[in-house]
Amino acid sequence: MTLSANDKQIIENSIRNIKDFPKEGIIFKDITTLLNNKEAYGILMKHLHHRYSSYNLDYIAGIDARGFIFGAALAQMLGIGFVPIRKKGKLPYTTIGEKYALEYGVDEIEVHLDAFSGVENARVLLIDDLIATGGTANAAATLVNQTGAKCVEACFILGLSFLDGIKNLSEKTDVYTVLEVD
Ligand code: AMP
Repeated sequence: MTLSANDKQIIENSIRNIKDFPKEGIIFKDITTLLNNKEAYGILMKHLHHRYSSYNLDYIAGIDARGFIFGAALAQMLGIGFVPIRKKGKLPYTTIGEKYALEYGVDEIEVHLDAFSGVENARVLLIDDLIATGGTANAAATLVNQTGAKCVEACFILGLSFLDGIKNLSEKTDVYTVLEVD
C-alpha cells in the first residue's frame, strides 16, 4: 500500500509542531498526537507493514526512545524480533557503543552484543521517529553492522530536508522517510 496524498496529509496533520522546545529556535515535531490519533497511527502502521513485508527482515532495531514505539509495533505485525538501541548506561548485559556528535559535545548509544545473534547475518531494519542531522541514526547503523548483522534500511516517519542527515546516512544504508518536511 503506497500512501495516497490524502493519507500523507492525515499523518502530517496529526504531528504537532512545538515552537522553541526544548530550546529556542527548534521546532519540535511532537508525535504523541499521531499516536493517540487512531486513524493516523493506523494508516502509518499499515503502510509500514505493507512496505516491509517483502524485505525478508529478521529484526527491527528501534532508536531510544520514540523508535521503540513504531519499531516494536511493526516487529509484531511482521512476526519478527525487536531490538532496542539505547542511550549509554541503560542496557544491563554486555554492550558495544558508538559515540556521535551533538551540537555541543558528544553522546553515545549502545546495543547488546548478542542482540541479533539468533539469526546468522541477520537483516535489520533501523527505525526512529525523525532524522535531523543523521548523527544518531549513523551511529545506530554502525552498531548494527558491528554486531555482524546488516542494516538493510533506515526508516523514519519524518525527515528534515533542510539538513544533510538523509544524504549522509544514504552512504551507509538505504533510507526511507514517510514524510519530508522543511
Ligand atoms: P539527529 O541525530 O540530529 O538526526 O537527531 C535525531 C534524533 O533527535 C531523533 O531521535 C529525534 O527523535 C530527535 N530530534 C531531533 N530533532 C527533532 C525535532 N525537531 N523534533 C523532534 N525530535 C527531534
